[in-house]
Amino acid sequence: MRMLKLQALLLAVVIAAFPALLPADDHGQVVSVAKTDFAAAGLGRKGLDLLMEKHGRVYIVASPGEMAALAARRIAYTVETTRFLPTGQQGSSAGGGINGAYHSTLEVETELRTLERDHPGLAKVTEVGESLEKRKIYALKISDNASQDENEPAVLFMGCHHAREWISVEVPFLFGKYLLENYDLNQDVRDLVDGSEIWIVPIVNPDGLEYSIHVYRYWRKNRRANTDGTYGVDINRNYGYRWGYDNAGSSGLPGSEVYRGTGPFSEPETAAVRGLFMARDFRAMVSFHSYSQTILFPWGYTVDPAPLEAELNAVAGTMSGLIAAVRGTAYSYGQASRLLYTTNGDTADWTHSIAGAPSFTIELPPVDIDHGGFFNDEAAIGAIFEENLPAMLYLARYAVDHPLPRRKRTPVREDRSAASVIGSGKIVK
Ligand SMILES: [Zn+2]
Repeated sequence: MRMLKLQALLLAVVIAAFPALLPADDHGQVVSVAKTDFAAAGLGRKGLDLLMEKHGRVYIVASPGEMAALAARRIAYTVETTRFLPTGQQGSSAGGGINGAYHSTLEVETELRTLERDHPGLAKVTEVGESLEKRKIYALKISDNASQDENEPAVLFMGCHHAREWISVEVPFLFGKYLLENYDLNQDVRDLVDGSEIWIVPIVNPDGLEYSIHVYRYWRKNRRANTDGTYGVDINRNYGYRWGYDNAGSSGLPGSEVYRGTGPFSEPETAAVRGLFMARDFRAMVSFHSYSQTILFPWGYTVDPAPLEAELNAVAGTMSGLIAAVRGTAYSYGQASRLLYTTNGDTADWTHSIAGAPSFTIELPPVDIDHGGFFNDEAAIGAIFEENLPAMLYLARYAVDHPLPRRKRTPVREDRSAASVIGSGKIVK
């Protein structure tokens, strides 16, 4: 009895400390399943939200429906949610969320406007689209004469396709801030900025981010109301190159965490990125995610190598070396489908399909869920940015110095509806 009271008290303390982490009724829990059961039941192809495999158990975020399905199939699972609470996050932030030092959508907008005001001529904030819930998707353009279109080579850094990956907002945002604040101090930065356009989209998925901050910390997708009553499209499975190639790299089931949507670019968030990318001379792209400390390059949809595999591998290797040189953090690198798992309809496959632009998914720290998973200590934000900075500078410089000779730009389609475009001039439906 006393034990139970103590447990109830501890639970109350946990709830008070992490109100938004605990799932609402229709949300999932972190559960673990014995790897033998996982394999025997063929769960690897069910579109589950896989977190890690350790000591013979597979960890997933399971919805109530998925937990019921496990129980109905007599697959034993253990609820592990409380093992994976955020660490090192203090207090609330503007708007009352638990995000602490991490940026909310409003906080990013305010900071971008401040950068624009403080660096006239070098920084320009642009609305590149609007989310399902009518939040603006902002890009920060950094260049000399930023408000003019000088048709300079462009590089794109994006964050927060996935709502719960908060660190992925911070790294591209801080990169933009760094470039602006060091323009007058650092000749290399000035040369880079003068000769290029650096585009930063810190939050591709603002609706999901707000939901993760205010309602359910583990939320991943956007907030599309699907026809079956579930919510969300995985917008990193919604791009138009080899969209829906198979059911291993994405799912056609709306309730899945990797649901690809009803068609390529069906979501306004991906359509916004498409509109931006097709309108400029983008020569490289990085989409930040977390977690696992990896640099991934195309293809994701197949284990076959991309035509430019050798170049992608060399650039990724250089970036990994530059990151390690800062304070020894090891980022592995390789083809996405081989290093992680197959994905189809992801950002990097699509941008790479546009004339071979070097494209990377960088999975930021930590290395695994036992080191925090989606929850980095807010005190680590600065260090994670700093270790990525030389790699970002290198890639931007590389892109400027390497025009894409194989580039045959697909003309921008005026039609921004779901059916699409793209990639080496192919129409994918
Ligand atoms: Zn992600």
